[in-house]
Amino acid sequence: MNETVVAANPGVIAGLDNYATLAAAQQPTWPDAGKLAEVRAELAKMPPLVFAGEVDILRSRLAAAAEGKAFLLQGGDCAETFADATADRIRNRVKTLLQMAVVLTYGASMPVIKMGRMAGQFAKPRSSNDETRDGLTLPAYRGDAVNGYDFTAASREHNPERLLKAYHTSASTLNLIRAFTQGGFADLRSVHEWNRGFTDNPANARYESLAKEIDRAIKFMAACGADFDALKTTEFYVSHEALLFDYERPMTRIDSRTGTPYSTSGHFVWVGERTRQLDGAHIDFMSRLRNPIGVKLGPSTSVSDVLALMDKLDPQREPGRLTFITRMGAPKIRETLPALVEAVRDAGAKPLWITDPMHGNGITTKNGYKSRRFDDVMDEVRGFFEVHRAAGTIPGGIHIELTGDDVAECLGGSEHIDEKTLEERYESLCDPRLNHSQSLELAFLVAEALAER
Ligand code: PEP
Ligand code: MN
Repeated sequence: MNETVVAANPGVIAGLDNYATLAAAQQPTWPDAGKLAEVRAELAKMPPLVFAGEVDILRSRLAAAAEGKAFLLQGGDCAETFADATADRIRNRVKTLLQMAVVLTYGASMPVIKMGRMAGQFAKPRSSNDETRDGLTLPAYRGDAVNGYDFTAASREHNPERLLKAYHTSASTLNLIRAFTQGGFADLRSVHEWNRGFTDNPANARYESLAKEIDRAIKFMAACGADFDALKTTEFYVSHEALLFDYERPMTRIDSRTGTPYSTSGHFVWVGERTRQLDGAHIDFMSRLRNPIGVKLGPSTSVSDVLALMDKLDPQREPGRLTFITRMGAPKIRETLPALVEAVRDAGAKPLWITDPMHGNGITTKNGYKSRRFDDVMDEVRGFFEVHRAAGTIPGGIHIELTGDDVAECLGGSEHIDEKTLEERYESLCDPRLNHSQSLELAFLVAEALAER
């Protein structure tokens, strides 16, 4: 562990508070300014969740991915909830990511950077401020860090105390993640164990046979006297959309080594499609952080937007600094992505490009569920690889919404989840997630695409 000490009191840092003078999209309307000020002061005193030294290592890993020497696997819930921050659920998500990482590492012979949308993914941008049910209109659910999902006036009121609960839930989630990934659970010799407890299906069966092959290879290497210390633990990073300034600003601290601001709310933070206005508060704030940062790019993104975002967020063109997370939608990616990657390539820049095959592929089913077709998700991933291959650029990772639990939220996959099944096992409070077997299936597809690269 790096010993960097991060100052507890951020003080006033040149420019860091400039965001407060700019338009900030998607912020809560807290009813009580005094309470909010108390919460912000308390958050500012809390220990950092992540450390500057870890963040710097991640930046170097992402730089390798941007060069095609590693691959980023980023995944987790659309919205984490306080209720689901249980040991079982967190373990299932970590296991699913570890399994996917094994499939990718083995299939592509490439290091995989494991990153959860976890330990901070508690705030959601919404397309509408309100929600109406049976004639009653209340504020929309904006994630557990802001308000409750229950459809009552009390629950939907924005409550700044929830920011503190988001911090503490992130801390306990991260504590468990660190225990799992450093305490022996992630030992590659446990590759079979990670599949235990999941239901039988073709993707799991395929995983089992791959795990057997890995086992055999490990036993062979052990017989040859290989040293397996490197297999015992794994690096695991956490990330979330940096949406709420009332959480992100108090969690930003000055690194005593360098005097620069780091977000200590997560190793990697990203700006969403709805908050990436060039002259808006989010881009200004993120431009001042030392963390590696991501920006979502939807189908309406112009070449000039992308070039301007690079100039604002990564003027030095620092390796690993900037990740573009494209979420075009399966029908559009082959038309919209080429111009962007070509322009960035021709500008001589090498950000990390990853695909989010979820957010451009939303549908509403006839029986009223927000869903996504697994085939569309797969098709967007294929399109992403095709576009990068044609442009001679690097398809460096994947960003997905998944859960380790046996839910039915996305349609299709080898279990053939249909609209009717959604009625039985739909749990997400926000966007639909791939379940365990759909996640594994996707990993096999990506491994094949990577092996061809
Ligand atoms: C998300 O990642 O959950 C999200 C809201 O994405 P986007 O900003 O791409 O719409
Ligand atoms: Mn989402």
